[in-house]
Amino acid sequence: LACERLDRAAAMINDTEAVEVEGPIHVGIDLGTADVVLMAIDAEGEPVAVFLEWAEVVRDGVVVDYVGAIDIVRRFIKQAEERLGCEITQASTSFPPGTDARLSINILESVGLEVTYVEDEPSCVAHLLDLNKAAIVDIGGGTTGTAVVRNSQVVFSDDEPTGGKHLSLTIAGYYDISIEEAEQRKRKAAEFNILSIVRPTLERVTDIVADHIRGQEVETILLSGGTCCLPGVVGVFEKELKLPIQLPTQPLMLTPFSIASLN
Ligand code: ATP
Repeated sequence: LACERLDRAAAMINDTEAVEVEGPIHVGIDLGTADVVLMAIDAEGEPVAVFLEWAEVVRDGVVVDYVGAIDIVRRFIKQAEERLGCEITQASTSFPPGTDARLSINILESVGLEVTYVEDEPSCVAHLLDLNKAAIVDIGGGTTGTAVVRNSQVVFSDDEPTGGKHLSLTIAGYYDISIEEAEQRKRKAAEFNILSIVRPTLERVTDIVADHIRGQEVETILLSGGTCCLPGVVGVFEKELKLPIQLPTQPLMLTPFSIASLN
């Protein structure tokens, strides 16, 4: 699962300090519903720069804040150039399955980048990890997406609008607090015993995944997406789906790393 690389990527989020890098650099840009991430990797596939900002620029496969997205990407490119001491003219990007790849391409092109590769999110992960008879389950901000993979190719994908935002809504309702406050408590899950509060919502997510994989050849599930940072998610999946569940150490970093690794 390239976990050491994901750990190193997570440790350098928004680190602007200059580093020395040899050889060509690959840049991947992930435009999500909850955040925008730029990751640069070196010729060995080692992360060398990561910039992340929480921002809702895409919703339901539509760019809702085009100008905001362009601003963030332009700033990230400048920060990465300063950190790495080189000019960035090319990048890869991706898009949620079933949405239009042009949305991401347009944003990158608007900041003057040449788009070298564009592929849907689970396909990026499937190629990186060379998966077979597996389902990639990406629980992001707004949706849960499932992609069934055979021999590194996505053979089925679907998504449903239940994700991290719905967990936050459940927490907000339980404590009678704002969504923003609920979002903070969710990230301190152990302190607030969040799992017991959001378990029914997570079970709704596992029901969605069970529907997605019914009748498909799936022997293992790989979890991805920021919501899988919540401690206890694996246990809920194991109990409800009765399949081996794999969780990368940094679920938020897997898709951006896969995009940067496209070549
Ligand atoms: P989508 O996949 O819907 O396009 P996205 O790619 O922007 O969205 P991610 O960045 O994978 O989504 O995940 C964002 C979600 O992860 C948010 O709902 C956020 O609250 C949640 N999240 C981030 N960190 C944590 C954490 N430590 N514990 C629980 N949830 C978290």
